[in-house]
Amino acid sequence: TAEPLATTVARWAARDPGRAALVHGERRISYAGLADDVARHARAMIAAGVRPGDRIACLAPPSPEFVVTLLAASAVGAIWVGLNPRYKLEELRYVLGDCTPRLMFARTEIDGRGYAAELTAIAQDHPAMTIVTADTQPAFLAAGEATQIAPLESRPPVGREPCMIVYTSGSTGRPKGAVLHHAGIAAFAEAQNRLWPLDPMRVLNYFPINHIGSVVDITCPALAGGGTVVLMEKFDPRESLALMARERCTLWASVPSVFQMQLDLPDFAGFDLSAVQLIVWEGAPMAEPLIRRLHAIHPRLATNYGMTEATSAILAEPPCADPEVLARSVGRPFAHAEVRLMAPDGQEGDAGEIQLRSPLAMLGYWNRPEETAQAFTADGWLRTGDIGRRLADGRYAIAGRIKEMYKSGGYNVYPLEVEAVIDGHPLVHASAVVGVPDPLWDEVGVAFVVAEPGLTAAALLEHCRAHLANYKLPKRIELRDALPLLPIGKVDKVALREAARALPP
Ligand code: ATP
Ligand code: MG
Repeated sequence: TAEPLATTVARWAARDPGRAALVHGERRISYAGLADDVARHARAMIAAGVRPGDRIACLAPPSPEFVVTLLAASAVGAIWVGLNPRYKLEELRYVLGDCTPRLMFARTEIDGRGYAAELTAIAQDHPAMTIVTADTQPAFLAAGEATQIAPLESRPPVGREPCMIVYTSGSTGRPKGAVLHHAGIAAFAEAQNRLWPLDPMRVLNYFPINHIGSVVDITCPALAGGGTVVLMEKFDPRESLALMARERCTLWASVPSVFQMQLDLPDFAGFDLSAVQLIVWEGAPMAEPLIRRLHAIHPRLATNYGMTEATSAILAEPPCADPEVLARSVGRPFAHAEVRLMAPDGQEGDAGEIQLRSPLAMLGYWNRPEETAQAFTADGWLRTGDIGRRLADGRYAIAGRIKEMYKSGGYNVYPLEVEAVIDGHPLVHASAVVGVPDPLWDEVGVAFVVAEPGLTAAALLEHCRAHLANYKLPKRIELRDALPLLPIGKVDKVALREAARALPP
């Protein structure tokens, strides 16, 4: 069993009321202020008829209402769902149709985009759903005033009851809603705080709230450990560094593409990041040159490997000062995760698909029994869809995603290996390789590369030739100004595969 996150936050509030829980622009919200707001929202949710197991959605950027609704939902036993403001109407309809919330909190305008048309359409789709906006919030909260609830800090313990639905990133297809449970969230937050001894964890969050990184990796561990989450509604590389400097962030946590943007700023050296105690990346492989640049900025680096369905990380390299180690592996299993590697022939060994067994893993995909069944093996292990290797020292290395692998002249090619070679060229900023059909070789690789103006495709191909077997050489190198990114900052390989297929011969 575990306690709902709202309970943990209320205990921090009782112990140290003035401690900063959230920072949002010029606003600072203490643990006492947060616990109070959560209790008001929890009462109002009950007054609005929310029952345990009901879904509560939140359409907002990283902001206090995200955290307040998440915690209040956890207090009343509802299942919270984060919605990305960047979703188009069709995507909102897909997610809401999938999880059918009873209550939805929504901004009517975010970053200059109005949501009136979307909200009208959604209200028509879901007549039984109450939508709470800034206009209706006072009445919503007032209705809860008279409602009695047990104090948050005395909420009964919870176990594997669902507490949120987190949609996957959509790297390989439509996002799937993983149902995560209270015990898993609490156990992960605790494991993370143990692995990263920061005093206290002060971390910037600009990740979309529908994503595991924003909710489970950053917000939950920080609040469970009495830390501070600095909320940034709209990511901008320069402003993100300015905010980290202003708020003296101790943890610099992000995804590789964002580190790249931040480090590439011409005035990067002007930001005071002296409060940083640890740099962490996760979600995608990090190119070795980038690891070295980060290491030159701060000697303590760490990385996590995981997935939404596992309730975040299952493998981790704890704070480490050796860039070599971080360049070749993603560390060892967390104590809570059993990991095995399965070869395509079904033999367990030192290479193959990474599969895991963990009490923290999702309960299943919301509403999708078939996909849930496919996510697990017959003997109950969760498949990651990633290929890994176990190194002699017990660490694991990621070779790539099974779905990204392509076959060229009968050989398997993992784009990750080709990308690592391309990224090793001193003039290259970023690269992504996809396989496309080819009449002669079955499939061939197309490399999309962002590089300094001086680099030509021919010179880059020479560089690849020196490091890769012939069948792994990309057939084409396309120089681009930028790579398309998914909302979370991962390279959008589905878009690149389409772009590669559409290239003129
Ligand atoms: P979808 O499942 O919708 O296709 P997704 O798999 O990208 O999208 P997430 O759950 O956010 O959705 O990401 C998990 C995946 O991210 C892993 O399966 C793995 O491929 C990749 N990943 C996570 N951490 C790392 C890491 N440290 N190094 C390399 N790859 C990583
Ligand atoms: Mg996935």
